[in-house]
Amino acid sequence: MEQLKNYINGELTEPVSKTYLDNYEPATGEVYSQLPDSDERDVRLAFGAAKNAFESWSTTPLENRMMILMKMADGIEKRMDEFVAAESKDNGKPKKLSRAVDIPRAVSNFRFYASALQHFASESHQMPGVGINYTLRQPIGVVGCISPWNLPLYLFSWKIAPALATGNCVVAKPSEITPYTAYLLSQVCIEAGLPKGVLNIVHGLGNKVGQAIVEHEGIKAISFTGGTETGKRIASVAAPMFKKLSLELGGKNPTIIFTDCDIEETVKQVVTSSFSNQGEICLCGSRIFIEKSIYAKFKEAFVARVQSLKVGDPNNDDSNMGAIVSLQHKQKILSYIRLAEEEGGKILCGGNELKLDGRCANGYFIEPTIIEGLDYKCRTNQEEIFGPVVTLTPFENEEEVLMMANSVKYGLSATIWTNDLKRAHRVAEKVEAGIVWINSWLVRDLRTPFGGVKASGVGREGGWEAMRFFTEAKNVFIKS
Ligand code: NDP
Repeated sequence: MEQLKNYINGELTEPVSKTYLDNYEPATGEVYSQLPDSDERDVRLAFGAAKNAFESWSTTPLENRMMILMKMADGIEKRMDEFVAAESKDNGKPKKLSRAVDIPRAVSNFRFYASALQHFASESHQMPGVGINYTLRQPIGVVGCISPWNLPLYLFSWKIAPALATGNCVVAKPSEITPYTAYLLSQVCIEAGLPKGVLNIVHGLGNKVGQAIVEHEGIKAISFTGGTETGKRIASVAAPMFKKLSLELGGKNPTIIFTDCDIEETVKQVVTSSFSNQGEICLCGSRIFIEKSIYAKFKEAFVARVQSLKVGDPNNDDSNMGAIVSLQHKQKILSYIRLAEEEGGKILCGGNELKLDGRCANGYFIEPTIIEGLDYKCRTNQEEIFGPVVTLTPFENEEEVLMMANSVKYGLSATIWTNDLKRAHRVAEKVEAGIVWINSWLVRDLRTPFGGVKASGVGREGGWEAMRFFTEAKNVFIKS
């Protein structure tokens, strides 16, 4: 059985404990590799390596730093097929999705921040007759990056690339559920000539490795993407230590559909925004609000289209949806579907786990599920399910839909479907979310701020926001 290794001080290493955890393929339910069961001793080694590397990396000429990040992007691209297959096998997502989205995006993350570092400038403020201020943007030192399982390499690299670009050294932990592409990345780092210790990848459990990264007194900033409860725990440790914190957390995103939308196009797009990656994208819309006058028409077309989605082996190009990431997560999603029924919801399609034949007979599959008839305040409509489950709710007018959309504790993203430009602007302004798409979903420009409000997070990633997060501003005044 293949055993993945940590990447510490430029080398692939065994965990200090010499013990390993099983890594499952969700589409088959079988263990296919093992990952290090690391602990705080490995984190200490990683920190030591990162600290030693910092002086040299933070003073490396920008052009050289850029070239290495570019080589990392090239290295992933050269092994595209291997990365695509690994991401799909580890996570359960259709291979065609990891080929179209996950891996190309990881390549873009490194290229984007490699070029950003050459353009990142700081401000100066002149005081006529008095002097001038200039602001240095200095790397923080050793920083921690912790990422989830839903878009494994995509989100891992989204943190690591700006952290490295700004001259920091990194101790990073991918999700224990999807470690494989981070392991491949460590091989790419070696091939690309990333100096020893600049990036260290420690595999293992959140409450051991993740916790040890957050608690380490020498790690000065934590960039975390994951669940809101974990984010809360991390903040309670890191805040009293005065660490910089970026938290990208859960969501319960509203999809708001007005009568004047282009209904055919909206149905098509909303199927994608609801069920892509089995609904396991923090930006998926899970509460669909439809203006009353088109409720019946939308529902009929939406249900018909969802029923035509094929849930199947992630290796097959005709599968629209693959497997749920783990047995535990599959059970959590199914328990929410049962809860929805108890709360009075009517299941319009799906609602059950799916048993496939052959290779995937023991895999974790769930039918895409649509539920109607629920109160907007019930638990199904308030709590994050993070799976292929959406609810339909009719509304009378803008005021009512905004009240329902904003009734959750989350505020990550929202989509608005209308051809009335003024209405689109009005609703976008009032909806409580960090990201709003109008007549579209998941169109990403890496320069834009990314993140949520309320329980969906603190801070923003993307573009200059990430470059600022991973640097400390120091103002210098010179008297004239
Ligand atoms: P978790 O919060 O369970 O885990 C995220 C990461 O944190 C994992 O690497 C996990 O390790 C680690 N971790 C767990 N406990 C601790 C701890 N005590 N200290 C430090 N690290 C810890 O989230 P999931 O992996 O289940 O991901 C799904 C969640 O992520 C959803 O809520 C989703 O909405 C959110 N998400 C948010 C995004 C955003 O941009 N806002 C984007 C994508 C997902 P381990 O895997 O070993 O438990």
